[in-house]
Amino acid sequence: MSHLLNYKLKEEGLKITSQRKDIYNFLIKNKEKHMSAEEIQREIEKENPSLGIATIYRTLQLFVDSGLAMKHDFDDGKSRYELNTNDSIHNHHHLICQKCGKIIEVKLDLMEELEKQIETHYEFDIRNHIVKVYGICKNCRVTQKHGD
Ligand SMILES: [Zn+2]
Ligand SMILES: [Zn+2]
Ligand SMILES: [Zn+2]
Repeated sequence: MSHLLNYKLKEEGLKITSQRKDIYNFLIKNKEKHMSAEEIQREIEKENPSLGIATIYRTLQLFVDSGLAMKHDFDDGKSRYELNTNDSIHNHHHLICQKCGKIIEVKLDLMEELEKQIETHYEFDIRNHIVKVYGICKNCRVTQKHGD
């Protein structure tokens, strides 16, 4: 997987540093998570205390710019990052629990019908989409029922 990092950074004319490798490997290990720069720093700090928050911010932005990572805004006041796995052309969707803040991924596109309609009626060539769905997750619904 690291060869992708090498390739992408070289393509952008950027050097491969051990810090960049560490942050990239961290994103690979936490593929399913959507962490803020602060959360990433807190975790990385345990093994690599020399990596400061400014470096992490800069590196994450670099990854976003070169297509290695994705940056999301789930309206909770901080940007969250995840590895761009490039396993589909369109972005996966995110379900955001308004109670516990959990983010669930929907890997299926499910937008084909909508996309077809838009392309026909608006003669619009769809390249991608960002879907954020707000609600209450299964866990929170269970505790809601048994709780108050
Ligand atoms: Zn789609
Ligand atoms: Zn929840
Ligand atoms: Zn995601």
